This record gives sequence, C-alpha cells and structure tokens, in this order.
Amino acid sequence: MGNIFEDFEGKKSIFKDKQPLDHRFLPEKLPHRDEQIQLIAKYWSEVLNNNTTPSDITIYGKTGTGKTAAAKFTRGQLLEATDSKNVFVKVEYIRCTDYTTEYQVIAQLCQKLGRNVPHRGWTRGEIINAFRDIFRSKNAYGHNLILIVILDEIDVLLEKDGDGILYTLTRTDNVSILSISNNIDFKKFIKPRVMSSLRDKEIVFPPYGADQLADILHERAEMSFEENSLDDDVIPLCSAMAAKEEGDARYALDLLRTAGEIADDKGVDTVKEEYVRMAKDKIEHNKVTDIIHTLPTQQQRVLEAILKLTQDGEEITSGRLYETYKEVSKGDSVTYRRIFDFVNELELLGIISTNTISRGRAKGRTNIITLQCDTDLLETSLYSV
Ligand code: ADP
Ligand code: MG
Repeated sequence: MGNIFEDFEGKKSIFKDKQPLDHRFLPEKLPHRDEQIQLIAKYWSEVLNNNTTPSDITIYGKTGTGKTAAAKFTRGQLLEATDSKNVFVKVEYIRCTDYTTEYQVIAQLCQKLGRNVPHRGWTRGEIINAFRDIFRSKNAYGHNLILIVILDEIDVLLEKDGDGILYTLTRTDNVSILSISNNIDFKKFIKPRVMSSLRDKEIVFPPYGADQLADILHERAEMSFEENSLDDDVIPLCSAMAAKEEGDARYALDLLRTAGEIADDKGVDTVKEEYVRMAKDKIEHNKVTDIIHTLPTQQQRVLEAILKLTQDGEEITSGRLYETYKEVSKGDSVTYRRIFDFVNELELLGIISTNTISRGRAKGRTNIITLQCDTDLLETSLYSV
C-alpha cells in the first residue's frame, strides 16, 4: 500500500491561497470603513502632534462589522507614522476572551512592555504598582511612554470581572483605552465612579449592506481563488445572505470559503450558486452541533424537553418545560430554579428565545420559550452525542 497522503498530493484546488478568507487575515484596505478609521486616527493623532495621551475611545457594533480589523489596521498605521517621529508610544492589543480578569490583563500588559511579572500570586496592589512603574521611566529623548490599550470584546471582561480594569487604566497617567464591544449596552456594567473618569469618544460601526459586503468579498476572492472560478451569482448571493444576518462580514467570508470547499470536494473548477446554499446549511449545522456537543448533560436534557414540546406543537411555558424535563431526565433532575439558569444560557447561545406575555390581571405574566433552530437539525445533534 502506498502512503495515504499520496492521494492528496498535487490535488487540484480552486483556491490559490485560503488565508485571505480566514477571520484573522488583516487586509491592506478596509472598504466602507474610512469614516470610522479616520475618526480613530484623528483622536490618536494627539500623540503624534502634541505628545499627549489621546482620549479614550469606545467602538460599538455587531459581530463582523469590522471593529477588530479597523482597530488593528489603525494601530499599524500609527506605528508606521511614529517610526519617523520623536514620540514614545506603544499600542497593545488584548482580547478579553483570552484575558478575562483585571489581574490577567494588567499582567499581560506588563509582560508586553518588558516587565516580568507572575501570571498569578501577586496582590492586586502589587501588580498595579508594577504596571504604573513602567510609565515613570523616560526614553533617550526624555519622553515618558504613552500606552494605547485596545481592549477587544471588553463586554466579556466587564460582565465577568466587573469594571476594576477600567478603574485602574483610567487612573493611570499616560494610558489611553480603545474599548471594543459587540454589545451596545455594555456600559451597564460600569459604575458611575468609573464612568466619570472614562471620558470616551464613541464610534459606531453599522452593519454592512449587501453591496458593501460584495465589495469586501470581491477583494478577498481575488486574492483567494484562481481566476474565473466563481459563477457570477456567487458573491451577490453570499452578500445578500450575510446582509440578512445583520451585515456580518465574517459570515459572508465563511459562506464564500465553505462554498469553495464544496466545489473542491466535488472536484469541479467553478463555485456554483447552489454551493452557497449548501454552505449555509453546513455552517449552521456545524454551529449548532458544536454548541450542543459542549453542553453539560442536564442542559442537553432541557433542550431535549424543548424539542419534544416543539414537535408536539405545544406552547412552552416554564411549568410545562419543567414537567417535561423531569420526564426526560427520569429522576436524575435539578431544581426548578436551576432550569432557568439553563434557559438563560441557551437563549444567550441563540438556540432558543423567550418572550414574556401578559395573560390578563388574574393570571399574571408567563414566559414562553421558542426554539430558534431547525428541529431536525437539533434532533440529529442531540441524539448523536
Ligand atoms: P468584528 O470585530 O466587528 O466582529 P472583524 O473586524 O473581525 O469584525 O471582521 C470580520 C471579518 O471580516 C474579518 O476577516 C475582517 O477582515 C473582515 N472585514 C470586516 N470589515 C471589512 C472591510 N471593511 N473590508 C475588508 N474586510 C473586512
Ligand atoms: Mg472583533
């Protein structure tokens, strides 16, 4: 028998380079984000022109509206511009899903700025002192360091660990914060005493329309696909579908890449419109299965109960759900209260939605649960665990 990799060697592909279709790829141009990038640059230019710490900035926008890309792009531009100037500025990027507590963020910043600190074990005071110490030394031109911290997905950190990180950073001289949030009302996690020192400029990233998504996809497709390998309708369809999904560029790129992979699997040399529709099902399928497979057992049972009630065409009230859940879990069940934590989590994951309705004065308010994904898909995913 030959080597199993021989079959794959030199296999024909319609991709010349898949990298530009990856989420992490940072393109050289960001069409339709000039206005937002110009604003960030305007605020940050304080550091170039006056050697002063720029205002704090907050960027809002739904997933896939180019927030991370725009922040990283502007960082690159600023660092390039400082090269030839006599300023001492650093821009550090922190993704708050990787560093989820104030301690972790500050420790990571210290590391990046060349101060060796332990990742745990010090008191909060010790780590903050070490961090603030960095700004006391001057460079060869007599300048103190100015630091711009990009806190991406900050809503995750604030919800988990409170607003201590903002308290500390806003009260450290020479630090400017660029916060990025998917959640418009993330400021509800910030207490007034911190709000008052965060005098931030807000920049909104609106969802992309279908035409804008098409422009973005055209640029990326040119880098990724062999010439003439996309049927004319492919990009417009990916764009229209993603425009419906809240103008999400990430989703548009996923559709295009997955459609290309389907064409490769079939061994054909053009991507057809129907592959985009197949890609949509495939992406949805993977998303739902991934989520379901990582749920704890009790939560899967809650979902099983919701599925059963949905298939029976019943209205799902809290009480009805708990009864059915108990049947499904056959004695090994958790309390009524615990179920509602699960319901909240499932709602956050987008698998279900809840709706409070009022049934007249006597009966009060009732929560109705509705499944938000395909029942067949859920059934296959649940029972293939
Ligand atoms: P967000 O941070 O708002 O969720 P991202 O910045 O991660 O969104 O963008 C998602 C994907 O779409 C990335 O691959 C990014 O490169 C791409 N993208 C978003 N906006 C643009 C744009 N204006 N031009 C080119 N690519 C873009
Ligand atoms: Mg992002």
